[in-house]
Amino acid sequence: MVGKIDPEIVFLGTGAAITLPAFFCTCSTCEEARNDPSLRRTRSALALLGEETTVIDVGPDIEHQLEREGIRTVDNIFITHWHYDHFWGLPGFFEPVSISKWGRIQLYGPVDVIGRFERDYEGMKGWFELHTVKPGDRVQLKDAAWEVVKTTHTEYSVGYIVEAKTKFAYLVDGVVPPPETVSRLDGLDLLIVESTMDSLDVEWHNFQLDDAVKFWKETGIPKCILTHLSCHGWKEDKLIAGMTPSERKDYEGKHQGLTFAYDGMRISVG
Ligand SMILES: [Zn+2]
Ligand SMILES: [Zn+2]
Ligand SMILES: [Zn+2]
Repeated sequence: MVGKIDPEIVFLGTGAAITLPAFFCTCSTCEEARNDPSLRRTRSALALLGEETTVIDVGPDIEHQLEREGIRTVDNIFITHWHYDHFWGLPGFFEPVSISKWGRIQLYGPVDVIGRFERDYEGMKGWFELHTVKPGDRVQLKDAAWEVVKTTHTEYSVGYIVEAKTKFAYLVDGVVPPPETVSRLDGLDLLIVESTMDSLDVEWHNFQLDDAVKFWKETGIPKCILTHLSCHGWKEDKLIAGMTPSERKDYEGKHQGLTFAYDGMRISVG
């Protein structure tokens, strides 16, 4: 069942663990982002705004991201995996829940996320209602149904398929997911997938740009938004400048249906 308010998604952050600019980096891509704030990227997180506010991932930038977007409450949080760029903002919810007297936030995540949270964030347990989810589970919320799918990133990492009027998958982080996930992508309207590196000369469980686009095209999903973008390459164990903004625009032009996300980008999914 879909809620009364047409929901929209907002990209709270579209960077990888390496933000743009990265404070330690003086490459041309970072210098360009220093000179043009519209190119800056904070750690990847997504919010679904409707009758409720549901956020996927809460990295260390989450409080600034919510403030920037004027989001004053959060009802539900889904975590994809226990890497700091995806969960390290959890302590930021302590104060709103205690001072502003929010109800408990519903916190969903795979078994290692919930287990580590219970162990490492003992003092915060009272502010969250914890839900362990596993691939195949479905959670019906006011604005959409959420399905948990396995990603290829860490042992327990997951992505989410969100069924509002627009059906989309959020697969961040990871490379080509396992077949049981790929089979669930049939008939979706939109794929949101990571593209951590513009180019990558080692094997990580993260996509480089061309491989992310190849995977999207194989799914047959008409639209793709790339996020978790460091906008760098990785060569010989070094971070190097990635594509320029105009090269990125040209790249979009060559692949109909493809968009690079940016911080603050909003799309109606109602
Ligand atoms: Zn990440
Ligand atoms: Zn750089
Ligand atoms: Zn990760």
